[in-house]
Amino acid sequence: MTLVHRNNRILSQMTDEEGGQFATRKLARKTGIDIRLKCTVSEIVADGGQLAAVGLSDNSMMETRLLIVAIGVSPNSEPLRGHDKGVPVDRQMLAGAGIYTAGDVAVTPHAVTGATGIYATYPNAMQQARTAARHLLHGHCQYAGSVNTNVLKKHIDFPIVSAGSFTGEAVTWQQGDIWRRVYLEDDMINGYIIIGDTRISGYIYQLYLSRKKVGSTIKKILSAPRHDAYYRHMLGCDQEP
Ligand SMILES: Cc1cc2nc3c(=O)[nH]c(=O)nc-3n(C[C@H](O)[C@H](O)[C@H](O)COP(=O)(O)OP(=O)(O)OC[C@H]3O[C@@H](n4cnc5c(N)ncnc54)[C@H](O)[C@@H]3O)c2cc1C
Repeated sequence: MTLVHRNNRILSQMTDEEGGQFATRKLARKTGIDIRLKCTVSEIVADGGQLAAVGLSDNSMMETRLLIVAIGVSPNSEPLRGHDKGVPVDRQMLAGAGIYTAGDVAVTPHAVTGATGIYATYPNAMQQARTAARHLLHGHCQYAGSVNTNVLKKHIDFPIVSAGSFTGEAVTWQQGDIWRRVYLEDDMINGYIIIGDTRISGYIYQLYLSRKKVGSTIKKILSAPRHDAYYRHMLGCDQEP
């Protein structure tokens, strides 16, 4: 099997360069997939009406009977707005009087940065739908904003979790197949990528969303050999004897 990707790493939407390259190497090693980076499909060759080969931008040609193209999704908002950039909504998920909008088509603010965009994941869609339903039923409910989290757990046999933006001071911890990085700004988490053992991701997510100052504690949390270290830290009993 060959995976062709135009970026310099797979999962480029949910990783920074180093984290993505770590994940790429790990996936290639574990699955044996031939991963071609910085490469795109430039030619499709048919023989008797059947797919026969695919030409790549690195000038190589590959014989194949099956080609799967997966290049992302965009909302079909053209009939509603005249373009495919989605439908802006307010905090009640209203796009206009009596028109509630939720899910992949909705343009919403980010819960931390406030940046508006389409945050096309299932938890955001669910929360937006809940907000719309509550507002419809009770006349009040405010959407707290979307979060650009990405979770890969079932798809491949090593988990990757990430959220936020990858800017600021990078604090990294790696041991064997585990790679963890947070980005800090003003001592608060701007974003994070956790690969391998993701059991701390719930705690990191809460620290990120709550805008807690983490300071140097974050190094301890990232490198904790025990996966319950964050509970121990919260309870104040993280001093090893
Ligand atoms: C391949 C893939 C993998 C994904 N993996 C994840 C993941 O791991 N985690 C995650 O959080 N999110 C994931 N997502 C994103 C997630 O599925 C979406 O964010 C979420 O389903 C959006 O919900 P929605 O209600 O807006 O749209 P949808 O779930 O797509 O629901 C829209 C529904 O409307 C129906 N419909 C369309 N047109 C019409 C019409 N004209 N009349 C009537 N009905 C119509 C469709 O049939 C569909 O049932 C993935 C998406 C894809 C495509």
